[in-house]
Amino acid sequence: MKKILILIGTRPEAIKLAPLIKAFKAKKESFQIRVCTSGQHIEMVTQVLSFFEIKEDSRLETMKEGQSLTALSTFLLSEIETELIHFNPDLVVVQGDTHTALAGAMAGFYHGAKICHVEAGLRTFQNRDPFPEEMNRRLISQLADWHFAPTTRARANLLHEGIPEKKIVLTGNTIIDALNKGMHKIEKKQYPSVEKVKKILSHSTRPFILATVHRRENQGEKLVKICQAFREVAETFGVSLIIPVHPNPEIAGPLRAILGTTPNIILIDPVPYPGFLWLMKNCMLILTDSGGIQEEATAIGKNVILLRETSERNEAIESGFVFKAGTDVEKIVRLTGTLLEKQSVPGIKNIFGSGDAAIQIVTFLKKQL
Ligand code: UDP
Repeated sequence: MKKILILIGTRPEAIKLAPLIKAFKAKKESFQIRVCTSGQHIEMVTQVLSFFEIKEDSRLETMKEGQSLTALSTFLLSEIETELIHFNPDLVVVQGDTHTALAGAMAGFYHGAKICHVEAGLRTFQNRDPFPEEMNRRLISQLADWHFAPTTRARANLLHEGIPEKKIVLTGNTIIDALNKGMHKIEKKQYPSVEKVKKILSHSTRPFILATVHRRENQGEKLVKICQAFREVAETFGVSLIIPVHPNPEIAGPLRAILGTTPNIILIDPVPYPGFLWLMKNCMLILTDSGGIQEEATAIGKNVILLRETSERNEAIESGFVFKAGTDVEKIVRLTGTLLEKQSVPGIKNIFGSGDAAIQIVTFLKKQL
């Protein structure tokens, strides 16, 4: 029996690790798992875990208002160490590129556990873009024992950095596992968040575009430009824009101040995952700076206008799903017009896997441990 500590910081980590937690739990005879949330996105993580019927075993209280990245790292390292001493795992699982993932990999490494990195090998090759995620994931690659790469490109990036081939497993991205499961659940059962978004949208006869912004690089001037583009889109194309507003005050403050009273722009609180799945499935188009949403869009068959200058998911751009516009107002509006007119998207593709990434990871680890 191997002991595995699974660390979750933010909403996307919860979504992408939920299928893996389920897959480990299905192999109870081989693995004892402990799910630890770090408190980075308490409410949003709790919603995701409850949707997938997962209970956290422990929660760290790491978030303090206005704390620096260094202070957050310090807290996380020391709190995760306490968890490690208490549970003494053989393996620590981290996902992606957050501070929780980096601190988990580092503390786990010092403790002597094997480190397992889910969604390994994503790169923009710009150390500070996205900040601090690009550096976090590079550092995690140095600490990890096993690297679960979502695409052949991610795998090639790791090989290029000298990671031994036998330590890398190409699995696809667990977000597709979560998406398939989630879509199935919302078709079978009514969820309050789905009913809520349907009700909000029933007040308008316009078709809708879904938009989200949350990245640190888009705060300040860039966010003002994005808001201007959103306003022009709502004024020009006879559509509504529904925007679940990220709780970060640096994002929520300006978004609400600039767009709060704009006709045909609907600002709502972050939508629990089932409601968000419904929005993605039923929107005309997605405008976002999110990483995970680009992955989901390729599997749902929606076009995305990417509100970023760089991408670590160029596969989605090359396949014709995602169009990079950065924060150029004219380009965002022009691309929106073109894509709305086109009214068709490329056929759904398995660019980020076919929904069995979690099973592949567990099967691999069972053989290794
Ligand atoms: N998401 C959600 N509710 C929202 C916005 C996003 O459930 O209001 C989900 C979305 O389906 C995707 C993930 O959150 O799976 C993306 O998270 P985010 O954009 O915050 O982070 P990133 O993927 O850029 O790291």
